[in-house]
Amino acid sequence: MEYITEPARRARITNTCDVLVAGGGVAGIAAALAAARGGASVILLEREYTLGGMATLGLVTIYLPLDDGAGRQVVFGIGEELLKLSIAHGAEANYPSAWLDGGTLDERVKNRYVTQFNPHLFALRAEKLLTDAGVTILYGTLAAGAVKREDAITHIITENKSGRGAIAVKSVIDCTGDADVCALAGAKTVKHAKGNALASWYYYYSKGAVALKMFGLADVVPDGGGGLAAAVPDDTSYDNEMVESLDNGFRFSGVDGAELSRAVIAAHQRMYGDIAGARGADDTYVPVTISSIPLVRMSRRLAGVSTPDVDGDRRFVPDSIGMTGDWRRRGPVFEVPFGALYSSDIKNLLAAGRAISVTDALWDVTRVIPPCAVTGEAAGTAAALYIDKEDCDGFASLDIAELQNKLISQGVAIHYERT
Ligand SMILES: Cc1cc2nc3c(=O)[nH]c(=O)nc-3n(C[C@H](O)[C@H](O)[C@H](O)COP(=O)(O)OP(=O)(O)OC[C@H]3O[C@@H](n4cnc5c(N)ncnc54)[C@H](O)[C@@H]3O)c2cc1C
Repeated sequence: MEYITEPARRARITNTCDVLVAGGGVAGIAAALAAARGGASVILLEREYTLGGMATLGLVTIYLPLDDGAGRQVVFGIGEELLKLSIAHGAEANYPSAWLDGGTLDERVKNRYVTQFNPHLFALRAEKLLTDAGVTILYGTLAAGAVKREDAITHIITENKSGRGAIAVKSVIDCTGDADVCALAGAKTVKHAKGNALASWYYYYSKGAVALKMFGLADVVPDGGGGLAAAVPDDTSYDNEMVESLDNGFRFSGVDGAELSRAVIAAHQRMYGDIAGARGADDTYVPVTISSIPLVRMSRRLAGVSTPDVDGDRRFVPDSIGMTGDWRRRGPVFEVPFGALYSSDIKNLLAAGRAISVTDALWDVTRVIPPCAVTGEAAGTAAALYIDKEDCDGFASLDIAELQNKLISQGVAIHYERT
């Protein structure tokens, strides 16, 4: 391996903020909103020019369940607010009327609190929500480095059309999905053992209607029924390995630049083949939107103070900051510890979304949209509390009861037995 040493350079300090949120996917939206509502000055860095990440640019437009599959809602707060926002102009499929229009327990057991939304409307509405809340969004801006003093981040290095700059921060929330900031700052991170299979979702028009094609490995059990109902199966036999895949065994880590390009090109070509095949039988068939970011499920995560596993099902977690059900099966509920959001390495850094600290087995549960919103809200709320605490020596010493009470006042349910 050959190396060069880059010349040292000065970066202009372009901004200052209480809370810097890196990444504007669902977790970043929730984190920025919660922090701004908590009174913090917030800057959100987003690499693309649209909010939503996987949920909008990736066209992953199924807002998986907010319930436990037994008729009980477990995700509240911003997790539910964003679901409602995503279908403010109507659901693309599966309007959850059993939950939004006062259904019976029986109806709620039969129909989980899940919906399908329009990605573009969701992105536009989320942008307005954040700007109205006072969040400064910097699009086309990469979190490219972290400057530390002792074990705290003082500045985030940015790269955008203006070149390189620096933002002075009091705390940082890593919502990049891939724990980029954690890795850049030198916090311990862990990669998923199996990596990712290819997926390539697109919207197409055919015979007067637009529909979503979940092409490649999809978070949908192939039960033959098709449709959104298949996303919330009744049985307990779900396994990623069962699902149809277009990858021919190729798996990628999600954090290697060249490999990501190879994966995206392979996915594009398989998508093109699929479209060309469909057009052979139906000449009205045209793609209308294709996913424009790599579809990555589990890549790199923070190695946090806590790393919960699937054995935590319905277990009391003293430092819980919210809950999630299991989108794959009915019954399980997991309380997420605050300790899964920070590590002992960097005291003013939190992770939220699909890069929180969980085992590989639980990762498939916590990486989906509702838990990403739950951890985003908790991180943003904690970061806003943190700025007022001059005597607080990092997130590890934040008063958990105060954080939990604040979350409860925002409508979040912390523990299973209280819902
Ligand atoms: C094929 C596939 C199918 C899925 N199906 C479903 C489903 O049906 N329902 C469901 O609920 N979930 C599903 N998921 C999971 C879910 O969509 C995502 O895991 C979730 O939306 C992740 O949210 P996030 O905010 O943590 O991360 P992301 O959505 O990945 O957002 C990260 C954001 O950070 C930005 N970013 C990255 N690096 C940087 C950087 N260094 N600087 C600045 N910005 C950066 C990115 O551009 C992106 O906008 C699926 C995922 C995949 C891949």
